Formats: sequence, C-alpha cells, structure tokens
Amino acid sequence: MIDNNTVERINEKFEQGKPVVIITHKNPDGDAIGSSTALALFLKKRNIRVNVIIPNDVPAFLQWLPGYDLVSIFKNERTKCSEMIKEAGTLVFLDFNEPERVGELKKEIVSSDAYKILIDHHQDPSDFADIVISDTGRGSVGEMVYELIVDLGGKDLLDDEIATSLYVAIITDTGNFRYSSSYPGIFHIVGELMNFGIDKDTIFTKVYDSYSESRMKLMGYCMAEKLVVLEKYKTAYISINQEELKKFNHQIGDTEGFVNIPFSISGIRFTALFIEKSGLVKISFRSKGAFPVNSFSEKHFNGGGHRNAAGGEEKLSLADTLSKFESLLSDYENELCN
Ligand code: 5GP
Ligand code: MN
Repeated sequence: MIDNNTVERINEKFEQGKPVVIITHKNPDGDAIGSSTALALFLKKRNIRVNVIIPNDVPAFLQWLPGYDLVSIFKNERTKCSEMIKEAGTLVFLDFNEPERVGELKKEIVSSDAYKILIDHHQDPSDFADIVISDTGRGSVGEMVYELIVDLGGKDLLDDEIATSLYVAIITDTGNFRYSSSYPGIFHIVGELMNFGIDKDTIFTKVYDSYSESRMKLMGYCMAEKLVVLEKYKTAYISINQEELKKFNHQIGDTEGFVNIPFSISGIRFTALFIEKSGLVKISFRSKGAFPVNSFSEKHFNGGGHRNAAGGEEKLSLADTLSKFESLLSDYENELCN
C-alpha cells in the first residue's frame, strides 16, 4: 500500500500532459518486460502517451507479450529512444536499483530533467529517483505494479492483457512460485489476475515450451560435459565458451534457467553459470537458503541482485574466472556447509 500523498503525486505526474517513458534493466527478464508492458498498457488505457525503452535485446520467448508494440530497444534505435527520454515528463524505472543496470542508457536517464519514479525489489536502491517504491520482500516487480495500479484507483482498467503481462512477470521471477513467493499476498494477486480469464497453460507454453531443438541440445551438452560439482562446498557450476555457443546456434535467452538445474542434485546449495561474451564473462549465481549470492557477487564479480539470485561480470578470461571462483570457495566453506 502506497501512502495517499505519494499516490496523488504519481497521478499528478502521469496526468501532466507530457509522455511517460518506462525503462527497465539490460538483459531483461520476464519481470522486467512483463511489469513494463503491464504498466504501459494501463497508462495507455488512461490515454497517457507512453513508451517502454529496454537497453538491449529481448529474448524471443518474451516478445509475444501484450503491449510489446510499445517497446523500443535502445541499442538498435538510439536516436529515437533519446528523443523519447528528452520529451518525457516522467520516467518510470522498473526492476533495477542503480543506474549502472541500464548500461549505456545511464547517461540519458541521469541527465534527464523528467520526474523519476523507481519501483523495485532489489536491496539498497541508490538515490537517483524522486519517488522510490522499494520492497525487497516481493518476488517480482509485477506484484508491485499490480498494487500500484490498484492504489492509483485503476482496478477497473485492468484487463486480460495487463493481467497476462503481470502474470508473466510473477511466474518468471519466482520460477513458477518455487522461489521468492513466501509473501502470501502474491497468491491473492494471482487469484485476482485469474479473474480476467488469463490462459495460464498457454502462457506457460509460450514462456517455457518455445525453445529450439539446438537449445535443448546445448542444455544436454552442458549437463553431460560441462557441469562441475564441488561436493565439499555444496556447489555446482557450468561454463560455456563462445565456440560452444556458436556450435549450438545460441540465441538470446537460450541459457535462461540453466543455472537452476544443478539444484536437483541432492545437497547442492550454490550454483553458478559462466558465459563467455566478447571481452567479459557474464555470470549468474543462485543459492538455496541463507548464503547471500548478491553480496558474494558484489564483492568479487562487480554485480548484485537478490539473496538467492544474483549476477555479475568478470573481465578475466573464462579459464581465469573459473579459477578465481573456485579459489574463493574455501573462504565460504562454513557459510555454505553449515
Ligand atoms: P540473472 O542471473 O538471471 O541474469 O540475474 C539474477 C538477478 O541478478 C537479477 O535480479 C538481476 O537483476 C541481478 N543481476 C544480474 N546481473 C547483474 C549485474 O551485472 N549487476 C547487478 N547489480 N545485478 C545483476
Ligand atoms: Mn525482478
């Protein structure tokens, strides 16, 4: 629940007659895109001019979302996106806690005079917005956008399209309610969304059962050939180099979910996925239980995220990154094994 004062201010900014631009983080996931398209569709229904800007490419399994026609990719359309930001009266930032997370788009948002609203569920949001709505207890920003819409008095404007976007945001960030869904209100929200007749089975198929054969083979190859299990540290990791990505015709989003698979091995509490990109290694970390992968990633791999799901990057070679990772584990043996 947002206080009345904030609700009034947000409504006032949305209604000031200037366009709203919604911006989310780079390498966007289902929560980033789904919460953005949902809020955009809601504002459009209120006859407010609105656009969504995403820093870089969106995986194919998210491009079908209702409202996706309102999305522009900064990497591909820089001038158009810069103009949108210049003309905006309000910028809404969804699903990130610091300007670094939007990559090269950072310059544009930091220098913009527009009113800035941040809605996020990551820890320690940095001070770059006029209004900060932050709740680390939430599994997804989708839940927060739902509540914002209700608080703004917009419940009557909810429809099956907005509900579908919000549902995708919620299921993707909670791994279908496996993670970060201990907040009971999430099920209340999902119950409300179901009332709009959303087709949860079709949504599931579009999000999870729409990959290519080569992605399935890449996954099989990773599990058979690339999985390293370090039983002593209850840790498992996978690394994929450029050559392997090419061999399996890698498309954006293909490695989504790989980092969670080793948890199905009994006893594993910490997993990592290392992907070789040009000039850096992109890393995903996941944990079960108390081990905080966000602070691990922040301290050693220039990253952050949530306690049980974080990411980071490393400029060393892939081989050196893996050695660095392995050599760090002994410092965490107590935390990982007790
Ligand atoms: P993923 O592993 O799915 O890319 O990201 C998991 C979580 O970590 C997400 O909440 C995401 O926002 C965060 N994250 C991923 N990469 C980075 C990064 O490079 N820096 C920071 N600060 N957070 C990241
Ligand atoms: Mn999120």
